[in-house]
Amino acid sequence: MDTHQRVLFVDATSNFYRIDRFAVGQPFFGPIDLGLHLSGRFNSLNIGSGLLAGSIFPGSNRLIVTGFSPAWGGFYVSTMGGAALVFDNLGINILTIVGRAPVPSVLYLNRRGGEHIEVEVRPLDLHQAWESGGGGFYGLMQFVFERYADRYESDPRILCIGRAAAETDFGAIGSAPITDGQITSTDTWAGRGGFGSKLLQQHNICAIIYGGTFVDDDFRDRKVADQWFVDRYEKRLKAVDFDATTKYRFDPGFETGGTLGVNYAKMGGRLLYFNYRSIYDSEEERLQVHDQFIVKHYLQQFNRETIEPKQQTTCGEPCAAVCKKLRDEYKKDYEPYQTMGPLVGVFDQRAAERLNRHADAYGFDAISVGGVLSWMMECLDSEVLSPVELGVKGRPHFQIAGFDVVADSAHNADLGIELLDSIIFRRGIVDLRQGARKFARHLARSKGRQVLDSFVYTAFGRNGWMVPNQYWTPGVLAPMAVMGKYYNYYGFDFTPPRDLGRISAGLMRNELMLDNLGFCRFHRAWAEEMIPTIVESLYGLKDKMLHELTITVNRINSRNASNLWESERSIDYVYTFLRRKREVEGEHRAELDSWIQQFETNKREAAVAYWYEIHKGIMESLLEF
Ligand code: SF4
Repeated sequence: MDTHQRVLFVDATSNFYRIDRFAVGQPFFGPIDLGLHLSGRFNSLNIGSGLLAGSIFPGSNRLIVTGFSPAWGGFYVSTMGGAALVFDNLGINILTIVGRAPVPSVLYLNRRGGEHIEVEVRPLDLHQAWESGGGGFYGLMQFVFERYADRYESDPRILCIGRAAAETDFGAIGSAPITDGQITSTDTWAGRGGFGSKLLQQHNICAIIYGGTFVDDDFRDRKVADQWFVDRYEKRLKAVDFDATTKYRFDPGFETGGTLGVNYAKMGGRLLYFNYRSIYDSEEERLQVHDQFIVKHYLQQFNRETIEPKQQTTCGEPCAAVCKKLRDEYKKDYEPYQTMGPLVGVFDQRAAERLNRHADAYGFDAISVGGVLSWMMECLDSEVLSPVELGVKGRPHFQIAGFDVVADSAHNADLGIELLDSIIFRRGIVDLRQGARKFARHLARSKGRQVLDSFVYTAFGRNGWMVPNQYWTPGVLAPMAVMGKYYNYYGFDFTPPRDLGRISAGLMRNELMLDNLGFCRFHRAWAEEMIPTIVESLYGLKDKMLHELTITVNRINSRNASNLWESERSIDYVYTFLRRKREVEGEHRAELDSWIQQFETNKREAAVAYWYEIHKGIMESLLEF
């Protein structure tokens, strides 16, 4: 096995590049701890693979992007499925970009055998590329493919951005696997954290095409790996992985598959819709919406069109989970089809497809932009903001009573598309170049805080913000150092807030270990247990790795600048969760009753106390000594 990690530094200003080598475990083990180090030194954007990329372990080819995030305001980690498989052919572990190209440029990386990597920073007419082909992100990817792909001996991969990277702080980096000389329709995204915005605004790089023919000594001994798995699970690797990924492939218990299918099948009264206004509805109303609009329509369409005909594929690496669920060119994951689905009053697949596709073409972080759209729609519905102010023609249909699941979903999707255009072309008063939180705060100063009060986000530092993952539980609003991923507990049980902080700290450590080794979290059922064993067997460094992991988590947390929940809806998100636990689920615990009582007596005061309890649990768990 390779004993060093190779970092390719590219200075986009001068086209200068060099490769540095870092011995494995001295002290770095992967793209997160090394990325943290590089970010601290250079404020660079770091794109890398884990030590096991190219190995036989399924899920080991996740591409990991790190740096200081423009949207979050702190160190952040964003990941993309399968894209490290081709990256591994470069024979490097991390690409670190510093400096800024004088004009928008494509970064071309190609390794044709031997040690040498061809590195070029080439100007590109970005607006022409965005106008071409499928438009936006899709147009740019095709544009780069047509100009550079024939220089590769095997299929390369292209990372791209859309207009959101130029106009907001939450532009994503996207990519689709290229197979047999064709770009596939399986978009994969490093969406969270706004690294597309960082790539374009700080480095003036709009695309990276990479690939090569380098053959590494990646671990591919199936017999040896099988023995490790048999020792632990009495089953071989393939069988363990197959069992562990059932939910993402097809879960017979729910007769559906993928995150979209299984989450909606299980959700019941925890469904979130109409910009989280659902938290104020009765359980009966929520169950009715779930039954009528989700089970009998939104989910039914998905099952009929995607699950039954097995329209599914992988992110680009060989993987039995086949978690990418498709209908034609539309790839469907739970969270984008939730934030740009029920959260914006869209319960119909056709409408959701149009809206999601429009957002993807602009290259937004789909979860965050869905949260922004739903907030803007509520502002329109409650007449806090006018259509003219938001550069659109109408208002949403944001009431369950009389809601037509097809026509009203289409109406809301059309409005969502108009709002996306307003963000990109700065129509009316819309300007998200400094982020949605800052925009909302400015609006609140002129229009009153009710504008801000319906916007649900976690706040970090002065301007950092993140739309939460779409689970109705306080953990998604926890004051962790990195939010918007799964570095927190998001189970639905009531966990006293101090425990919630402690548990979240532990989960952050586990998730970071997966990310640092470049693993897809959908394999976590075995990967969390087996990674230390694998590292010990291949490098003899298990204890060192676990020790350094603890240090890395603590270092990231030492920069934790989380802020109190700023909007009333965020506070209510927590409060109503607690109330539902008691009133709907019948949970009776003295601590739960006490918190509900505190929220009923003084909501804001209780929110501060609750937030600080979670924070205490986090901080006491992530002390370096
Ligand atoms: S579970 Fe999905 S994202 Fe993860 S490796 Fe498999 S196909 Fe890729």
